[in-house]
Amino acid sequence: NFASQTKKVTLIPGDGIGPEISAAVQKIFATAQVPIEWESVDVTPVRNPDGRFGIPQAAIDSVNRNKVGLKGPLMTPVGKGHRSLNLALRKEFDLYANVRPCRSLEGYKTLYDDVDVVTIRENTEGEYSGIEHEIVDGVVQSIKLITEEASKRVAEYAFQYAKENHRSKVTVVHKANIMRMSDGLFLRCCRETADKFPEIKFEERYLDTVCLNMVQDPRQYDVLVMPNLYGDILSDMCAGLVGGLGLTPSGNIGLGGALFESVHGTAPDIAGKDLANPTALLLSAVMMLRHMEMNDKADKIQKACFETIKEGKYLTGDLGGKAKCSEFTNAICEKLA
Ligand code: NAD
Repeated sequence: NFASQTKKVTLIPGDGIGPEISAAVQKIFATAQVPIEWESVDVTPVRNPDGRFGIPQAAIDSVNRNKVGLKGPLMTPVGKGHRSLNLALRKEFDLYANVRPCRSLEGYKTLYDDVDVVTIRENTEGEYSGIEHEIVDGVVQSIKLITEEASKRVAEYAFQYAKENHRSKVTVVHKANIMRMSDGLFLRCCRETADKFPEIKFEERYLDTVCLNMVQDPRQYDVLVMPNLYGDILSDMCAGLVGGLGLTPSGNIGLGGALFESVHGTAPDIAGKDLANPTALLLSAVMMLRHMEMNDKADKIQKACFETIKEGKYLTGDLGGKAKCSEFTNAICEKLA
């Protein structure tokens, strides 16, 4: 009985290329007969009864109901008074861990052929707490906030992720040699969590050392967990090692639900032209399926995507090909049909 097993998932198609790549993912999922029903919502800010602009209540309700969502890129208008919608979503759903797997793709040559690392970034505090003030003219202070609660939950998530995904090692990335108290606390929370997962190897490394090693030999790393700012930078660096943001999926794990999204932006230069590469959003959707324990479907779709890229017949412009988004999508669907 297909209908009774169908799960609802919130879909935020997003701006720019968002609707095109979302449609591609929906088509591929339909072909693979994934038993989910998409609930499309618009997150364009509306004026709430209190007079402030924010995410429409219907979108918030949808994510709270379904607990799982897929999100395309959102445009953040440049200028005063616009809070990033991505930040608003992160706050609204307490998305405390950002997970980014970076794996080399066969058929797309980069510096290294065998990168397979996962960065797990604390997503709610650290330097990004947004607590800044001017003490006197010309002197500003920015607070780096680290709490035991947030550090513990992201450490737990990292080890649990490693266990469930059959990974062997977790590296905590820190600067506790300089930031003795703040990073020191983060490090302590990771150590304590490591004790609860004796089957997973645990190692501690300084951020600068990891940067150096990552570009010299990324094979030595597996799962990495770190505070917010370090994760922001290191995860993009890892994405660069496997071919850039157009290929990188991500997941935002929260207390009340999880949102999966491509890492790239709205690509205004190619929007509406059927030129975008839907791979990052598709692989984010595959991560979402694993989160929902639909591993068979996830494996099948991932395989079809990787094979299409490996064959190289229908590559989009960003990967050096000439195919349209729809042609690449159809090639994946043919493998699934
Ligand atoms: P961008 O990622 O949109 O584009 C950078 C370059 O990469 C462009 O040349 C673009 O064509 C290309 N590109 C990106 N995704 C691609 C894809 N899937 N296929 C093929 N090519 C792709 O970055 P930007 O130009 O700095 O930002 C544009 C807008 O996106 C801004 O409004 C920004 O705020 C927003 N943005 C949103 C998110 C998000 O929602 N998570 C992330 C980053 C940027």
